[in-house]
Amino acid sequence: MTEQRRVLRTEIPGPRSLELHARKTAAVAPGVGTTLPVYIERAVGGISVDVDGNQLIDFGSGIAVTSVGNSAPRVVAAVQEQVERFTHTCFMVTPYEPYIAVAEELNALTPGDHEKRSALFNSGAEAVENAVKIARHYSGRQAIVAFDHAYHGRTNLTMALTAKNMPYKHKFGPFAGEIHRVPMAYPYRWPSENCADEAFEAFTAAVTVQVGVDNTAAVIVEPIQGEGGFVVPAPGFLKRVADWCRHRGILLIADEIQTGFCRTGDWFACTHEGIVPDLITTAKGIAGGLPLAAVTGRASVMDAVHSGGLGGTYGGNPIACAAALAAIETMRAEDLCGAARRIEATMRPRLDALAAKYDAIGDVRGRGAMLAVEFAEKGAAKSTAVAAACHRAGLIVLTAGTYGNVLRFLPPLVIDDALLVEGLDILDMAMAEVL
Ligand SMILES: *Cc1c(COP(=O)(O)O)cnc(C)c1O
Repeated sequence: MTEQRRVLRTEIPGPRSLELHARKTAAVAPGVGTTLPVYIERAVGGISVDVDGNQLIDFGSGIAVTSVGNSAPRVVAAVQEQVERFTHTCFMVTPYEPYIAVAEELNALTPGDHEKRSALFNSGAEAVENAVKIARHYSGRQAIVAFDHAYHGRTNLTMALTAKNMPYKHKFGPFAGEIHRVPMAYPYRWPSENCADEAFEAFTAAVTVQVGVDNTAAVIVEPIQGEGGFVVPAPGFLKRVADWCRHRGILLIADEIQTGFCRTGDWFACTHEGIVPDLITTAKGIAGGLPLAAVTGRASVMDAVHSGGLGGTYGGNPIACAAALAAIETMRAEDLCGAARRIEATMRPRLDALAAKYDAIGDVRGRGAMLAVEFAEKGAAKSTAVAAACHRAGLIVLTAGTYGNVLRFLPPLVIDDALLVEGLDILDMAMAEVL
């Protein structure tokens, strides 16, 4: 049993991690980068144990994936049971019940009480691709509108939707067509006070004048932007966009791949914004670490696609479905939405205090257990230096942001309070050392 505490036995990374890293460098394509070359041997709850016996505090959850904690007991039991029953049939060939059960959970849990259907896939990018396919097929229109600072994945179509060139798109073009970009209501970087109004006006002008309402199949948006730097849209902006789209037959796709499944203190971040999307994409936190993704949408929209038009060999793999059902049960039984709000209540005042102490910090934002600080200066120098100091002290933190200047915090929702506070103490020390 791994104790939920930080233990440093060697420098970070230690000698065995360095050995593995040399093998990685020789064997693995360098395009697959590594934030922190500490090789993990075991991970439980909010602690990751490396091959040198160091126990690190996890403020990243493998990018918002292990929200129920690493190797969560219900997930482990469900996977073990399923893996002994059968590992794969392909749902499109001979189906099985866990896929249906996941679809039922998604239809019930996602925002809106209209009739819904779901389809399951392997990765977030694949879910986004399919949401776009469905929106185009249903509407008979082609254009998709995406926002500045958006991140929707790394496949060809999702690279086109993603805003940031380096490292996601650089020299990987040409990209898919009929993608149009509009400004995001990003309060900290908006040049005037009327962020929500002006961004909304820019949005409607672009769709009306440049794209054409009748050509626009869907608008896709992350209700809190993830890789773009945990940008929380100015209050009311998303609601106005949603209402405007609904009156013009433009579908709203909410990409809740990072924000979904209790991360922001509710099952889905759309709820805070008071919006009900037509289609919603989910992945990351859905299955306690197993690869699974979904598109859930209005029955009228989802039913438009012909039989056989959607799918894939592994989509809705039975082991991943079993894991998802166990993860969702854990979220419910342990009230992980409440846990995310408690994490915010602990972290937010500490982050605000750091912002008061260091002029370098320009903004503290986010919701629930999805919080970030943005440095005023654009560029990754400060964020990388603070993250590196955290890493040396045994705290896993991630950076983000269009300008690379955001430190983001995504602790597992089951993290115990002592670990959370210790992680914040380390962050405090790291900032004192660097800023
Ligand atoms: C991670 C992410 C994706 C892509 O998911 P993958 O599983 O990495 O393909 C898409 N959208 C958002 C908002 C994400 O955070």
